[in-house]
Formats: sequence, structure tokens, C-alpha cells
Amino acid sequence: MDQVAASSKKVNLLDFDRRGLRDFFTQIGEKPYRAEQVMKWIYHDLEDNFENMTDVGKALRAKLTEVCTIGAPKTLLNKVATDGTHKWLLGMDTGNAIETVYIPEPTRGTLCVSSQIGCALNCGFCSTGAQGFNRNLSTAEIIGQVWVAAKQLGNVTHQNRRITNVVMMGMGEPLANFDNVVRAMHLMRDDLGFGLASKRVTLSTAGMVPLIDQLSDAIDVSLAVSLHAANDDLRTELMPINKRYPIADLLAACQRWIARKPRTSITFEYTLMKGINDQPEHARQLIKLMRKLPTCKVNLIPFNPFPGTQYQRSDASDIHDFQTRLLNAGVLTMLRRTRGDDIDAACGQLAGQVTDRTRRSADIRKRQDEGALHAS
Ligand code: SAH
Repeated sequence: MDQVAASSKKVNLLDFDRRGLRDFFTQIGEKPYRAEQVMKWIYHDLEDNFENMTDVGKALRAKLTEVCTIGAPKTLLNKVATDGTHKWLLGMDTGNAIETVYIPEPTRGTLCVSSQIGCALNCGFCSTGAQGFNRNLSTAEIIGQVWVAAKQLGNVTHQNRRITNVVMMGMGEPLANFDNVVRAMHLMRDDLGFGLASKRVTLSTAGMVPLIDQLSDAIDVSLAVSLHAANDDLRTELMPINKRYPIADLLAACQRWIARKPRTSITFEYTLMKGINDQPEHARQLIKLMRKLPTCKVNLIPFNPFPGTQYQRSDASDIHDFQTRLLNAGVLTMLRRTRGDDIDAACGQLAGQVTDRTRRSADIRKRQDEGALHAS
């Protein structure tokens, strides 16, 4: 207690998963089961004021108020699209904000959560990549997105679930922020947290091969892999990470994942860009590749444009043709409907406000300006 009280900064309880919270309570001289009582208040009742935790003794409430906070990110903006999609701009620290998106559908509600401020991977077709990278989000900043959205949507865990699924598909590469993301996903899954089944929590990666293996040891969640091209030359052009972890290595990691979790499948995301990766030959390459992973699915995403991009969305007829080829070859294929694009909340459009430490955004802006000059 003295040690904790001595530090001027209060401890944010959203930074702990159940085990961490029990350890923390022991450290401040309390019984670990108290941690579980408090956890229920935080995630089931969405309570952030210790004084309202009525089954916690008065003395402990006072102690917690003195040394801890339940500090979720600040809502700077909550935009609602005509189709009911929400996009929150959440303030993280001075100069930085990230985006979280809620997509309601008739039978489920999906929350798309960010893992980093910006992204270091620099995929050419993604607006988050174009913003450059600032830093990893803390566990509190990741689970805090779910907490804020749940509170504002009137979510009641175990009664009126507005959030039935969480996908780590917002800003950032979640595996590059491994520990904080895993801890936050434990809180999504935990019965005393948001209580979501493993099928309903999905992590999407651009393909950080060694960390895919680590993830399968660390937690039971669903995996999505951003593929976007089925040959190495094109994939490296679109996603620089392919140089380090080429397709064969990525597929081998996916096969290991399936071998360890025989009842699960992996979803491969494939963003269709006009004239780039949407032609019949690309469909044939993808079909060949999917034969190695027969239980897996392909999720086709029509490209979502953003200012300054060199890519365009594929024509509707090409999208249809691409999907038909895959389906005819027996590949389970879904076409992701574009949601929330009137508020720039669709895949790859999340940009937030990033104080870029890589200078990438400045370089891109410079190139755009030069391009505009040449064009005029
Ligand atoms: N870094 C992780 C998480 C991001 S998930 C990953 O790469 O998987 C966001 C998904 O949207 C990824 O599949 C990403 O490749 C895709 N995406 C990015 N930009 C897009 C755009 N402009 N249009 C459509 N999809 C895009």
C-alpha cells in the first residue's frame, strides 16, 4: 500500500486482467476475492466510481479511491452513420486520438478496436499506415475502448448485449503490441469481464509469423490474416512485411494454428483493388493457395478509398466475378458489406489523430503536394 500510495500517479485498474488484479489487491493488503468483486462492478455494471460499489466495505472503498482509478479513454467525438454504425474518436494523450467503430447487424453487434496509435507496417492501401506510428496502446486504453462503447450503447453484460463480438481490426498491428493486446483480450473473454466466447473475439494480423505461434499458446481467440495477394511479388508490393515473412511461412504458421486448434478456422482478408489484385489470374492463385487450408474462409473487402490513395475500389462486376470463381472452386467466401463509409468508419479508413514519430505522414503529404503540383 505504502509503495503504491507513494507514487503520485494512481494505478489504473483497467490495466489488469483478473490475475493481475488479484495480485494487486494482495499487494495492497486485501483479499484477492475483493478484486473479483471490483472486477464485476467495472465490467458488468460499467461502474467507475468506487463509492458506488455497495458490497465493498467503506474502508476499502476509501483506500481504492485514494490509490486507484478506473480510467477509460475520453470520448472526443461519437459519430453515428445513417446505417447505425458508430465511430468514436477517443483521446489518449495530448495530440493523439484513436478510432473505435461499432457495427450493428440484425443478429450481432461488432466492435472494431484499435491496438496502436498509428501503425508501423506501412501497407500502401491503408490510411492508418499512411499516418505513421506513435506508440502502443496500454491494456487500459484497449479494454477502455470496449468499456466506453458498452457504456454509451447501454450494453449490459449477460442481459442486453449490444456488443456480441470484438475484432482487433482497428488502427495498428495487434501482434506488435502483444502483451497489452493479450491482456485486454483476456478481459474480453473473462466471465467477470465482458464474457465473450473465443469465437467472438478475433485478432487480425498482417502476418507476424512467430507471434502467431505465440498467440496460440497465450489465449483462445479467433484468428484473421490479412492476405490481399496470393503471390509474393504483389504481396510485398502491397504489404512490406511480406519481405520478412513471405506467404509460404505465413501459411505454415496458419497450418500450425489449425493443427493446435482443430475446431477453429482462419479467415483470410482480401481487399479488392481495381486492376491490382482483382483479376481472374489472382483468383486462380488464391484458390490454389486456399487448397492448403481447406477449412479456412476468405473475406473479400471492397477497397475503401481515403484522401491521397493511389488505389481504387474494384468494379462491381469484377468483385462479383472474383467471388463466383472462389465459390465455384469450393472456397468459402464472404463479401464484406461496406459499413459506415459516410463517416469514414470502414476498414482501412481509421486514421484518428496521430503525432507521427516516423515522419512517414510528412513524407506522404510532401509527395501528395508534389503530385498535385505536377498534375496542375
Ligand atoms: N494490422 C492488422 C489489423 C488491421 S485490420 C491487419 O493487417 O490485419 C484492418 C483490415 O482492413 C485489414 O485486413 C486491412 O488490410 C484492411 N484494410 C486496410 N486498408 C483498407 C482499405 N483502404 N480498404 C479496405 N480494407 C482495408
